[in-house]
Amino acid sequence: MKIGVAGLGAMGAAIAARLMEVGHQVSVWNRSADKAKPLVEVGATVAATPAALAEGCDVVITMLTDGAALDAVYTGANGLLSGKPQGRLFIDMSTVAPQVATDLAAKVRATGAAFVECPVGGSTAPARQGKLIGLMGAEPADAARAKPILEQLCRRLEHCGPVGTGAAMKLAINLPLMVAWQAYGEAFAIARDAGWEPKRLLDLFVDTNGANNGLKMRADMIVTMMEGRDPGPTTFSVANAVKDLRTMLETGAAKGVAMPATQAALVGFEEASSHGLGGGDGSRMAVYWASKTK
Ligand code: NAP
Repeated sequence: MKIGVAGLGAMGAAIAARLMEVGHQVSVWNRSADKAKPLVEVGATVAATPAALAEGCDVVITMLTDGAALDAVYTGANGLLSGKPQGRLFIDMSTVAPQVATDLAAKVRATGAAFVECPVGGSTAPARQGKLIGLMGAEPADAARAKPILEQLCRRLEHCGPVGTGAAMKLAINLPLMVAWQAYGEAFAIARDAGWEPKRLLDLFVDTNGANNGLKMRADMIVTMMEGRDPGPTTFSVANAVKDLRTMLETGAAKGVAMPATQAALVGFEEASSHGLGGGDGSRMAVYWASKTK
């Protein structure tokens, strides 16, 4: 199938590579053109604009930062919807508020195209391996159309309900993880006086009931950061964590839910971001907080 991918950040690039690996003809577009190069080297074609991407593909997947990015890429000049979108299927996999997803669905459907949201759990390695958790929101017929492609990207695909329900479920599953990075930072800070080597400290933590999968998977990365060495490429950035926490709070406010733990985590992540760590991995939050003094 001819599939377009718009947005070649950490996740979009991994998704495009996976789709090529399983045999699709993949075209790509990214605002910063240089990010397309590694995919072109392995056979992807590049579209000059989002409109051209949509014209040349049956299905277009978008994987972008937030609602503003979606607006720019779908409805901006030469956007996806300014070409010939009729009959095409658009699948948005970005993490956004439910209202953003439902507003976008209405705009896409008004052009005669179909829209499915499928935000995901899992980071770049599961995306590359087709092992994401997909949280699809769609009308039944559109879901059936998207399913064969999404099953090639996801180890578990849930049809949550109509568009908007997938967005809410994605924010919900991400919330404990974001709050936990702040909690680990505070925990490491009170353990600091023991003077343990980072490796011993992380080894203890991952052996306890307080360890979530995120900590287990990033324990080596955290040890590396605590030792002052380069942890390698960011998989999920502090900047995106700030964006997600703000979106969770907006979504909670719209539903009348008080979220004090989420609010506290946002304050911590915003502070880390204001200290120049926005591009760093979200797990750096724990290292930052552990080493700071009041
Ligand atoms: P990323 O590496 O920061 O990439 C963001 C992408 O959005 C880039 O392609 C960027 O283009 C594009 N973009 C941002 N603003 C734009 C604008 N105004 N116009 C056009 N393009 C714009 O982020 P990511 O980690 O791939 O995450 C993408 C989405 O997936 C986010 O919603 C994130 O919350 C979600 N997510 C991430 C993970 C993860 O582990 N990384 C896991 C699950 C879900 P440029 O390259 O030109 O900047």
